[in-house]
Amino acid sequence: MNVFSNPHTAPMPLSEIPFPARQGSSALFASSSSALQVDIAVIGASVAGLFTAQALAKLGYRCALIGPEPVYARHQVGFDQRIFALSPASWAWMQDQGLSAAIQSQRLGLINRMHIHAPPLGSVEPIVFDAYRAALEQLALTVEQSELIAAGQQAVAMAGVLRLQESLVGIDPPVLGARAASGLQSALQAGQTRRITLEHGKTLEARLLVGCDGAHSGLRKLAGITSRRFDYKASAVVANFACGSQHRHSAYQWFTDQGILALLPLPGQALSMVWSAPQPIADRLMSLGGESLRRHVQAFLESLGSDAPVLVSCLNQPASFPLIESLSDSPTAQRLLLLADAAHVVHPMAGQGLNLGIGDMIELTDVLSRPASRHDPGQAPCLERYVRRRAEPVAALSLLTRRLYQWFEQRPTPLLAAIGAWGWSRVAGSSLIQSALIRQAVRHGPN
Ligand SMILES: Cc1cc2nc3c(=O)[nH]c(=O)nc-3n(C[C@H](O)[C@H](O)[C@H](O)COP(=O)(O)OP(=O)(O)OC[C@H]3O[C@@H](n4cnc5c(N)ncnc54)[C@H](O)[C@@H]3O)c2cc1C
Repeated sequence: MNVFSNPHTAPMPLSEIPFPARQGSSALFASSSSALQVDIAVIGASVAGLFTAQALAKLGYRCALIGPEPVYARHQVGFDQRIFALSPASWAWMQDQGLSAAIQSQRLGLINRMHIHAPPLGSVEPIVFDAYRAALEQLALTVEQSELIAAGQQAVAMAGVLRLQESLVGIDPPVLGARAASGLQSALQAGQTRRITLEHGKTLEARLLVGCDGAHSGLRKLAGITSRRFDYKASAVVANFACGSQHRHSAYQWFTDQGILALLPLPGQALSMVWSAPQPIADRLMSLGGESLRRHVQAFLESLGSDAPVLVSCLNQPASFPLIESLSDSPTAQRLLLLADAAHVVHPMAGQGLNLGIGDMIELTDVLSRPASRHDPGQAPCLERYVRRRAEPVAALSLLTRRLYQWFEQRPTPLLAAIGAWGWSRVAGSSLIQSALIRQAVRHGPN
């Protein structure tokens, strides 16, 4: 069964945003009280915030999206520095939401095959995940962050989301419904709201606050939600390279004693690199600059016996991102929910951070589309239902990425390496196991 249609035959891309997102339909929200009143206020206007706000507005909730415009430039020569691998489940949701139609198909890359190497385990075969053998069209798709932001901004504008570009600076405790004198009065009489303060003193009342304000979430801190943080003492160095031959939609990953190096296929003859390296190595890589970095990476790949296409030029400025894991002790508080990186940040080795965030959106929109949620999306039973559904996938991904990282970082003893090599060979040698793993990932995706 194909769950994932070929993006090159996707519907016609829409043109640029027809009007600035910030104009939204603000008039809809006019209120005689000093505080604006909405059903749901989404904090943070990057990918997670944009996607969430448009999805909730389409369910019929009055939504505000709060936060400065993310800095991004669309259609860059040499591609955006930020490239995401999206799972079939995430892409299918984006298609349902109409988001995929706004993304230019010629800027999408396909991953049909994934080669995973583990040199520290000795001469083990690579594990190759193959979409064709698992009877799928693709394992995943690569897309620039700028395309996702553009699609999200367009959807937010068209869904009539109130767009406020100020940052959140404060939240009040829950407010009794009796104080909500106008605007949503009938709906609010039975419930409560939370009041937030934005820069320049503007205030807003919402029955539910959704935090999409990233790894350093201010909303999380203001709400007093603690989080467990693990510092990998490493950074991910990213750069895009032109390659000398067709990549044939193959992705590559090496678990090495110098970190985890991944190459993801971009459209045409280009590959996107993510090298998650211990901090001293990452610093050295960043000090090289584009062309020297390419030479260094190519030499390293050759030392690993790489079967990936040769890297011939560096297409853009390299960038680096410090690597942490951060898990909120609870993704929810009274009338408040944290989503995506605000709730959980995981190591990017599996390319699943945003996919996990899209999984959050899928569950939240499902919970809030039920009749029981309609009169009050911030009521505790709705939020608890959401939290129960998301606990397991987040914990599983955090466990998998952290354990894998630590296992390779600590340089396995000969005995552990032998056990690891045995397990690795079982997976590498069995297309049945590979297909089962792929199907599991595709069926559940970010869920
Ligand atoms: C190297 C690397 C590679 C990755 N690769 C992948 C991949 O292949 N696939 C994948 O699925 N994931 C990947 N990820 C993870 C992915 O990058 C993140 O999960 C995703 O970008 C999180 O998006 P977000 O919108 O939640 O947060 P952010 O992008 O951090 O956005 C947060 C927004 O909140 C705003 N904000 C902050 N404070 C306030 C405030 N007080 N008021 C209002 N607004 C505020 C900010 O301005 C920003 O716009 C990768 C991560 C890294 C580091």
